[in-house]
Amino acid sequence: MAAARKKMTEMLEIKNLQVAVESKPILTGVDMTIRRGEVHALMGPNGSGKSTLAGVIMGHPNYEVTEGTIELNGQNILEWDATERARAGIFMAFQRPMAIPGVKMADFLRHAATNVRNPNRKEGEQLIPMREFRKELRDKMTQLRMDEEFARRYVNDGFSGGEMKRAEILQLAMLRPKFAILDETDSGLDVDAVKLASQSIAEIGGADMGILIITHHDRLLEHNTPDFTHVMLGGRIVETGGVELARELYTEGYDKVRARHPEDAAIEREMAAADKKTVSVVA
Ligand code: ADP
Ligand code: MG
Repeated sequence: MAAARKKMTEMLEIKNLQVAVESKPILTGVDMTIRRGEVHALMGPNGSGKSTLAGVIMGHPNYEVTEGTIELNGQNILEWDATERARAGIFMAFQRPMAIPGVKMADFLRHAATNVRNPNRKEGEQLIPMREFRKELRDKMTQLRMDEEFARRYVNDGFSGGEMKRAEILQLAMLRPKFAILDETDSGLDVDAVKLASQSIAEIGGADMGILIITHHDRLLEHNTPDFTHVMLGGRIVETGGVELARELYTEGYDKVRARHPEDAAIEREMAAADKKTVSVVA
């Protein structure tokens, strides 16, 4: 049958995911399936758990998965470290990228791209040939309208908020993952830069990337119309809809969602109160 012969669409499948940080429960049962070629928007107030979800998918060691599964094409990835996940084609752009003083963008990208493209490469083996790499990097930077100087600077070292986000998009362009999670890649960018970012993501992603875009605004979605919009509140996805849900959220905010899900809104308040306590103890 045609259906049986058709190549299976690759997918990232999250089921009943429960996550704690320092034994504090943050995610309390997240379900989400992202297929290659789909755009998913994840929205929700600050502190609802969006970055936690992104970090857990990528394999950040701070998070403890207490229940549930994350599978890539049916394979459990929870035991894989972040490097293995990256090699399998998962990418995450950080909400707050880290600086790596002493490591130039170009060298960083050459190593990262080599590792992702040759998953069985041993440490010390050949990198992508310099000439080939340089050309590709230059092409991508032209496409993203980035100054060549950018590649010679240390990774995120002294970058403005906007430059950091553009550096993340350059990584996305060079690594061309199967699944990309973009955590507020629009924050800190001015209107024109967000427009360019939105276009670039659409061009890079094309039809064969599965993308999870975490955002509060509509601009990044302009060229990446979400097939699904998820709303997170108090550590759970409380609603999933289409592009119209994203529109409602950025025009009207989250109060209607809170009103529709009073129990989750109560959990949100508890989480925020607990955060305040932690902060005052630290301060
Ligand atoms: P969002 O990205 O939706 O704003 P986060 O995932 O960053 O939300 O945070 C969700 C909750 O988890 C918040 O209450 C936050 O304080 C808590 N949290 C996240 N990361 C940590 C951490 N490393 N240590 C302690 N608490 C954390
Ligand atoms: Mg966040």
